[in-house]
This record gives sequence, C-alpha cells and structure tokens, in this order.
Amino acid sequence: MSLEAELAAIVGTANVITEAEALRPAVSDWRGRYSGRARCLVRPAATAEVARVVAACARHGAAMVPQGGNTGVCGGAIPDAGGREVIVSLARMNRIRGLDAANNTIAVEAGCILAEVNRAAEAAGRLFPMDLGSEGSCQIGGTISTNAGGTRVLRWGNMRELVLGLEVVLADGRVLDAMRGLRKDNAGYDLKQMFIGAEGTLGIVTGAVLKLVPRPAASATAFVALESCEAALGLIDHLRGALGDRLSAFELISAPQLEAVLAQIPGTRRPLATTAPWWVLLEAADSGAQQVLDDALEQGLMQALDAGLARDASVARSGREAQEFWRLRHSVSEANVKTGRVISHDTSVPVSRVPEFIARCSGLAGRFDGLRLHVVGHLGDGNVHMVAIFPPGQPGLDALAREVSREVHEIAAGLGGSIAAEHGVGQSLRDQLAICRSPVELDLMRGLKRLLDPQGLMNPGKVVPAG
Ligand SMILES: Cc1cc2nc3c(=O)[nH]c(=O)nc-3n(C[C@H](O)[C@H](O)[C@H](O)COP(=O)(O)OP(=O)(O)OC[C@H]3O[C@@H](n4cnc5c(N)ncnc54)[C@H](O)[C@@H]3O)c2cc1C
Repeated sequence: MSLEAELAAIVGTANVITEAEALRPAVSDWRGRYSGRARCLVRPAATAEVARVVAACARHGAAMVPQGGNTGVCGGAIPDAGGREVIVSLARMNRIRGLDAANNTIAVEAGCILAEVNRAAEAAGRLFPMDLGSEGSCQIGGTISTNAGGTRVLRWGNMRELVLGLEVVLADGRVLDAMRGLRKDNAGYDLKQMFIGAEGTLGIVTGAVLKLVPRPAASATAFVALESCEAALGLIDHLRGALGDRLSAFELISAPQLEAVLAQIPGTRRPLATTAPWWVLLEAADSGAQQVLDDALEQGLMQALDAGLARDASVARSGREAQEFWRLRHSVSEANVKTGRVISHDTSVPVSRVPEFIARCSGLAGRFDGLRLHVVGHLGDGNVHMVAIFPPGQPGLDALAREVSREVHEIAAGLGGSIAAEHGVGQSLRDQLAICRSPVELDLMRGLKRLLDPQGLMNPGKVVPAG
C-alpha cells in the first residue's frame, strides 16, 4: 500500500492533502522567506493517530515536518525543496483536556491556539502568562517546540518555564506520556526538556500540562524617554527595586525604530512630546488594588526622573492609552518591512553587556552603504533584536545581508551571547550554530539526534548542523 493510502486509512481521505494549491499555505512561511514542496500534508486528530502516522512514515522512510500555526521566523516548519517530506499538521488537535484550578495548571492538546488557552485561563480567573504578537495563530505545540519568549519573560519566564508536563510521539511511533502537573519531580532525568525548543527534530509534541498564575487584577503601562541605553539598565534596576516582582515587561526601543513605526503605521501617535534617542515601554501587574500599583509606578518613575535615569515619562491613563502604547511595540515588524529590506537578528547577551553589544553593532552602520539599524529588545532578558535595513533596490543585497548577520552574530558571541535567543534555529541559523556553540555541544546535539531519531526522519535539515 502507498504511504498516502496508509495515511488516509488512519486519518480519513479528507485529511491527507496532496493537491499543490491546497498545500500552498503550508509550504512557505508568512514572510515569504522560505518555501519548499511537500509530498502531502496529514492532519491527525488524536495522539494515537499521530503515533500511527509517524510509524507509517518511518516504515516508508518518509521524513516528517511537524507544523503548528506556521508563524515561526526561522523556516523550521517549512519542508525542503525535494517534494518528498510529509507535513504533519497539529491543527485538528485543539482540545483543552482539563483545567485544574487548585493545581494552577491546564492540560491541552498541541494544536490549541495560544489565544484559546489564554481565554480558558481567563475564564477560570487565571493567567497563562505567554504573550506573543502571533497569539491568534500560533499553537501551543509550536510555542513549546521553539521555546517561545515574548514580552513577559521578565516576570514569568519563557515557554520552558511554563511547561510542567509533556506528551510526545517519538520517531518510532511510541508515545512518551509525561503529562504530569508536578512542580517537584526529581525521579530521574527530566526527559520533557529535550523536546522543548527542539523544533520538531526529536519528536512530535501532542499534549502539554501548562502552568497558570493568578490573574493580575491591576496593570499599569508607561512609555519612558531616555538619554542612553545605559540609562535603561539603570532604570530597570531601579524599578525592580521599587516594584519588585510586579514589573512584568520592559521593552527597549531605539528612536529610529519608534520613528519608523510612527511614519509607517496609520493611526499611531507619539507617546510623549519629548524627543529622545532611546525609549522604554514598561508594564507592571499586580493582584492588589489598581491605585496602589499606579502610585507605586508613579513614585518609581518620579524617583527615576529625579535621579537622571529618565528624561520624561508618560503613564497610560486608560486601558485604551495602554493599548495604543503597546500597538507601537507590536507594529515594529510591519513598519520595518515597509521601510526596506529587513535582516532581523534574535541575539541575547548578558543583560549587563547590552549597551556594549548595541554600541559595537552601531559601528556597522558607517561601514555598509545605505544600512540603517533599528533596535528593539526585551532588555530584562538581554534579548536584543538588532534590525538591519537596506534600501529595497540596493545591489548585492543577499551578500550584504550575510555579511552584516555574520558580524552581528560574532559581536554577540564575543560578549558571551547567543545568536538564537527566542525564535529558534530552524533552517536559517543551523549552519551558523558553531558561532555560539562549542564542538562538544554540537557533538552532544548530534548524538541526541541519532539516539532519538536514528533514521533522521524528524524534521531533517533543521537545528542540528551536519557533522
Ligand atoms: C506577529 C508575530 C509576533 C511574534 N512574536 C514573537 C515573540 O515575541 N517571541 C517569540 O519567541 N516568537 C515570536 N514570534 C514567532 C512565532 O510566533 C513563535 O516562534 C511561535 O512559537 C511559533 O508557533 P507556531 O505554532 O506557529 O509554530 P510553527 O511556525 O508551525 O513551527 C515552529 C517550529 O516548531 C515545530 N513544531 C510546531 N509544532 C510542533 C509540534 N506539535 N511538535 C513538534 N514540533 C513542532 C516546527 O516543525 C518548527 O520547527 C512571532 C511571530 C509573529 C508572526
């Protein structure tokens, strides 16, 4: 029997897609950077079906590309050009299996959309504290497989810190059932960690038990003008003292980046009349009274202004104004794409070295004709997106892009940083991993891959560089 016939027997003919037109949205990414071809796309509806799909593909020697919401930015969910890989879509596995309010956990299938999980948590008076601009499309399995970050890592951590239990279909079709909602569990190796951030190269995530937190009753948002990014480091340190754990987001934005958003995105407006070379968008959240939080933030900001850590600040006076502030931050990618040819970077360095990283990267602007640099970053995580932009028609753009990226990555690595902070490696950074990973680390990665996927069928060509 052909593989397609076997797959149809498992999931039904309607859930094995082979026509080129129907496959089109699944074989390229939303930014149009990566495209490939697929033998077919299969849509299982339950863990047992995924297990049978994987076993069938393994018998036929067919490589599999797990796909969630296809919102990733590293080409991890896109098949290669060969037309022989099977895309395994988790879209039909979108059930919430249960919410345990007393345990503060929610058990979900991997295909649940992040926004749905957020809504379910909200209905129970809880918060699932993962905040991504893609929340309406990305799936829990995708966010786990990329170990996604976002704007609230500062307080609640990235996806790895929010996963308590996991269910994974292994490359041979066996199911690893570790769906435990335990906060303490040292019974041997913590196997689920291998699959978090593995980008589908070690198995297919089918379910997860996620951590919930009490829903904050109050939140306060402010936009702050700053003299320098060193001042931003001083400000975050000061506000952590003033607000403690309540500081939940601290986003650094350079003036050219903010100006690009204001110029390109209709309906946006300047948060403050002041001009400044650097800006911070920050948020505090608390389970106590709104007034207490407002007072604490205002007092913290006044002290910062007095101490010269900030030039000016505006606290949002309404939920609508807070949304307008956040829209400036969330419109960054759209504005940059409208500005020119974008080469974005997802680097991290120790928080203390962020100013040095930015200063060294700024030196590149004078060396490459037409290059503009926009900076946006999650400062408290040391995660800086250094966005290089060239005018659209500039000759030799591909070569220029490679050269700029290599330099940005080497600067980050030279400061003890990483070239893949929150978006993952996928196919885009695979061949550059050696910049920030030692030969021993790469050897262990290849060994793990061989152990869990001896046939090399789980998302080949992604993450793990050839040996
Ligand atoms: C507007 C916008 C804003 C974004 N903001 C952020 C941000 O702030 N921080 C951030 O970290 N990312 C951000 N992203 C990137 C993206 O949303 C995340 O990487 C997200 O985690 C990807 O989820 P997905 O379901 O779309 O996965 P996909 O893109 O479908 O897949 C991503 C990778 O995971 C693998 N995969 C998917 N599902 C599974 C599964 N069930 N089992 C095994 N492997 C699987 C795929 O093979 C691929 O390698 C943003 C994207 C957009 C479009």
